[in-house]
Order: sequence, then C-alpha cells, then structure tokens
Amino acid sequence: MHEQLEGIRVVSFDVDGTLTDKKFVDEVWLRGIPEIYAETHDMSFEDAFKIVMEAYEEVGENSIEWYLIDYWLQRFQLNVSYENIFERFKHEIRVYPEVESVLQRLSAAGYELIICSNAAREFIDVQIADIKHYFSRIFSAVSDFRQVKKSNDFYLEVCKILGVEPQEVVHVGDHWVFDFLNPRKVGINAFFLDRRGEKYGAFIIKSLEELLDILGLDGA
Ligand SMILES: [Mg+2]
Repeated sequence: MHEQLEGIRVVSFDVDGTLTDKKFVDEVWLRGIPEIYAETHDMSFEDAFKIVMEAYEEVGENSIEWYLIDYWLQRFQLNVSYENIFERFKHEIRVYPEVESVLQRLSAAGYELIICSNAAREFIDVQIADIKHYFSRIFSAVSDFRQVKKSNDFYLEVCKILGVEPQEVVHVGDHWVFDFLNPRKVGINAFFLDRRGEKYGAFIIKSLEELLDILGLDGA
C-alpha cells in the first residue's frame, strides 16, 4: 500500500496526539491550574478559570513561558509542585492502543526510536513513562532548544546530534506544519498522522501500524 522506505535508521515520534491523546495535558492546564487558583485565592472555579485563561492568552503560544508550568505556578502564586498536579491527573494519560506493539516491532527490527516533541520535558516524561524504555533519546523543542515550535533547524540539529542524515530518519506526528512540512523541508521522511482518517495522500497515515508497512515489517 505504501511505498517502502530503505536505509532508515531512526524513527522519530511526536507525543501529544501521536503516542498519547491530549486529555491529560488539557486537564492539567484547563482544570488543575484553575482549580488550584480558585482554592488558593479563595474564589469560584468560574472566576479563577476566567483569570487563568486571560493570562494564558496574554502570554500566548509563541512565548516560551506558555509551555513552562513552573512559570505559571509562580505567576499565579500557587503553592503546589507540578509533580503534585501531574499525580492528580495521571489517570487521564492514555497511550493509543497500537503504540506499544508498533514500538516493540520497530525496536526488535533494530531501528533507533526517538521522541521529537515541542512539549516541555516534564510533560513528555510523565506521559510516556510506561513506554519510555523504547526510546534512546527524547528531544523537547522547548526544554532542549528554547524553541516554541519544531522548526527546520530543530530537526537538523537533532540529526546532527544523532549523527544521521535526514534521509535516514522517519518522523511521524499529527501537526501539519511542525510534524510534516518542516521535517520534509530538510529531507526527513515525515508522515502526517491523521487519526480521524479525513485526509488522504502518499505521506498520510491514520495509525502508527502503517509504519510497519512503510518499513517493510508488515505481516512478518
Ligand atoms: Mg502532536
């Protein structure tokens, strides 16, 4: 079904929406933080929610602070650690059903598996805790490169660190620009993950299982 790729050494994954769903992250930012804000400053959840959302908006996703939970805890004067908040919502972390078996197959076939996420490291670590042992390296655009998005440079830097050519890397993720167009621009074999199956095209997949086919491991 897919054209098979040869000469691949590294398979790279995005996290949110690719390995795990977004529920945990949403719960932390949209429920946990406003709830603690309400308790701390003695107000209703609704009032706290409004203040917190306005502050998020004011900072905006193009600022590095947007991604740094310690910045927000400090700014809102919340006397709680992020570990504490994560603990509270850990049960909301969901790794997509096909992930582990795909990682197992790829790893057994000798591919080096890595993570390229724009999330801050503490979010990546908690979300992939159960599957972490499959990955040799974890790259966070925000924590490692102080970049808010996965740019062309980000991907080139990752290749350089790993000592591989972009052509030897497959990357998969669910963001059209940051997981697909940008890595493609530098020569990485990027695939767009469309779990809802709304888009069709040569480099679009709807499950990570399709990677097995792309790398010639299907049905073995
Ligand atoms: Mg994503």
